[in-house]
Amino acid sequence: MIQTIYIERQVADHPRTRKILARFPDAHQIDCDRYTEIFNPKNQNFRLQKQQPALIIAHKFGKRVLSAPEGYGVGGQHNYYFSHMLNCIYDCRYCFLQGMYRSAHYVLFINYDDFFESMDRALANHPGEDVWFFSGYDCDSLALDPVTGFAAHLLTFLESRQRAFAELRTKSTQIRALLSVPAIPNAIVAFSLTPTETADRFEHKAPPISKRL
Ligand code: SF4
Repeated sequence: MIQTIYIERQVADHPRTRKILARFPDAHQIDCDRYTEIFNPKNQNFRLQKQQPALIIAHKFGKRVLSAPEGYGVGGQHNYYFSHMLNCIYDCRYCFLQGMYRSAHYVLFINYDDFFESMDRALANHPGEDVWFFSGYDCDSLALDPVTGFAAHLLTFLESRQRAFAELRTKSTQIRALLSVPAIPNAIVAFSLTPTETADRFEHKAPPISKRL
């Protein structure tokens, strides 16, 4: 599936990086300083790259948890979003990601713990109140989870923080991490469901509705 993996030098020895590389022993590995060298250049052909995207393993600097746009949420008062990944393995024709970035490669930010630290800071900004965190803004939250293992880390984080609610938004069937632990009330999984005819026409590469149900 993934034939090329770019690896930022600073995360090359990260245990999660090593675990991912072990999953793809035949992938071509290329070192880089920053993921932006590969992801951001102009004049990339998104549609051509989408035929065989590479994986880029990177470290996320700067703001990792951002205030959600107004109206984005499911009724909570304090809403944030985060993106541990950029881009999606599916190819829905209506998805804003089809034109959002110059590259179709998948970027995975491997420093999950820094995301959780940022979420803790957001919680501290709202003492005693519920705070919502939305994944699935710049990716499908679970589609690549067998590779990233992110959901298991998020569930562990949520278990001890009852005020933190997280939404995982997905069209995938990758729910093994969710099924392997008891359900917790602050982990919400949102599945997109569309009529079969619409899904067949527009949701390319995504699992059929019958498998999502
Ligand atoms: S599954 Fe979601 S993120 Fe992925 S292409 Fe479809 S709409 Fe976009």
